[in-house]
Amino acid sequence: MSTIIRTARFSTTLRHRPALLALTTRPCLALSKVPGHFQNFHDSSQKKIIGDVRSQIPQVTTQHIPESVAAPQDISSTEFSSAHLKAYSASELLSYLIMGLCTVNKTILNLCIKVFPYVPIPVIKALVYKIYCGGETFDQVRKTGARLSDRGIHNMMLSLTIEACDGNDKVDPDSIVSQTRQSVRDILIPHTESIINTSGKDINSIPPGYVALKPTGFSHDAANVLRYYNANPKYAAMFDELVERASSICQEIYDANSKFALKYPNRTAPLVVGVIDAEKHDLQEGVYELQRRLYAKFNPKNKPVSVVGTLQMYLAGSSDLLAMEERLAAEHGYRLGLKLVRGAYIHSEKDRSVIHKTKEDTDKNYNQGITYCLESILAHQGNTSVIGHLVVASHNAESLSLTTRKLAEPVYASNSNKSNIVLGQLMGMADNITYNLIKEYKIDNVIKYVPWGPPLETKHYLLRRLEENGDAVKSDNGFPLVKAVVSEMMARFKSVLL
Ligand SMILES: Cc1cc2nc3c(=O)[nH]c(=O)nc-3n(C[C@H](O)[C@H](O)[C@H](O)COP(=O)(O)OP(=O)(O)OC[C@H]3O[C@@H](n4cnc5c(N)ncnc54)[C@H](O)[C@@H]3O)c2cc1C
Repeated sequence: MSTIIRTARFSTTLRHRPALLALTTRPCLALSKVPGHFQNFHDSSQKKIIGDVRSQIPQVTTQHIPESVAAPQDISSTEFSSAHLKAYSASELLSYLIMGLCTVNKTILNLCIKVFPYVPIPVIKALVYKIYCGGETFDQVRKTGARLSDRGIHNMMLSLTIEACDGNDKVDPDSIVSQTRQSVRDILIPHTESIINTSGKDINSIPPGYVALKPTGFSHDAANVLRYYNANPKYAAMFDELVERASSICQEIYDANSKFALKYPNRTAPLVVGVIDAEKHDLQEGVYELQRRLYAKFNPKNKPVSVVGTLQMYLAGSSDLLAMEERLAAEHGYRLGLKLVRGAYIHSEKDRSVIHKTKEDTDKNYNQGITYCLESILAHQGNTSVIGHLVVASHNAESLSLTTRKLAEPVYASNSNKSNIVLGQLMGMADNITYNLIKEYKIDNVIKYVPWGPPLETKHYLLRRLEENGDAVKSDNGFPLVKAVVSEMMARFKSVLL
């Protein structure tokens, strides 16, 4: 049975959309069998279509962004701001102190990265788990949500963190689905309701609650399923099951948004969103296909989007991909939700040629991408734009400045679509920037990515954070962090003595 026939079984909505199912950015066996325009994406006719689409997109380079928009605001001042540390408990401060010491210079950091896999779980749990992870149980995650909310961070992107992409086949996909669905019902929806009722904010100033969906958690042998979904009948069938599992969570989210829409008719953006996380590059073709099927099913025109996909802007082909996704959405009558990230797998990516050559190229591409999406969303009122929702998922001060300046432009003052633009940082990362966004720049739509789950499973996630924290041994790590934590500890000690 061909891949086209099998995928067409997925839904009536998609039955008449083989082109949508077939278009991928890599050669696709199923496509080459189909006549007409269902051809290999890399053939010349297909390239021309994409070329045409790109030419319609204003090329927003940093040179073309007006000075007032491009110049970075002082969100992360070079002088480390320690104001946010006042909200932390003594044990959280100790964790930050340890993190600061681990990232004091590259040599110590590299040593810590080497030693980390051998550190026993109870030690990790006692020392750093709580600043990066939301907890192991629903109750602990709820408390984390409440603590974040006390700091003005009114919603979360929950992520049940089970690392399964490297052949960890101990995962039980059905249990991941049921725990994730339950986390939407028992954590995200009540948390969002409670923020609506207690924060005193306007309904359009409340960020949605997100649940991150890791495609590698939704199938056994997920890496091969995502790699070979359209080349091997066994994996194609498993891919359909993977899509069904993700769909069952998105259905829960879609239904919740429908209920919210009745209860809060003035709200423009969704109040709950499912976000497909991006994985290593060689799995991404399957992930893009998953995203497209979910968009088509759960992001109908003129309604808030319920599904957001992720684009990694460190990929050299990402701006073409963005253009293609927008064109596919327009052609097939659904809306796009996008989370733009730079990309987390630079350390483990085998094929380095797929990534932009320099950090500057990645930065430029990221800033162009967010500017394009922002302008596209803000050019409309209500839920009429093709790109319907954007999560600027970054800790980079320049990218966040760009976003905050755009949102602050007087022309958008009464545009309710601003609630469709949300800034997200990982829990425990760039906390001083998150604090500044909320307290100094009065940005409401800020959320934290909150991984939760068993500490053993979150160990890989924590290792990636350690690597990322030290990428440049940045100003919010290392010695500045140690200095700030010590002075906060001293201040508390003095106040006890007085
Ligand atoms: C809410 C949230 C969700 C996320 N979800 C995902 C996800 O689903 N999938 C995923 O892959 N990542 C995800 N990330 C991580 C993200 O991709 C980045 O790794 C991380 O945010 C660091 O990038 P930054 O934008 O904060 O900026 P910076 O710290 O300024 O940039 C660091 C990034 O720049 C890029 N880079 C560094 N050096 C080079 C170089 N020499 N050449 C080219 N590029 C370079 C890399 O992407 C690196 O991670 C998420 C991040 C957040 C905040």
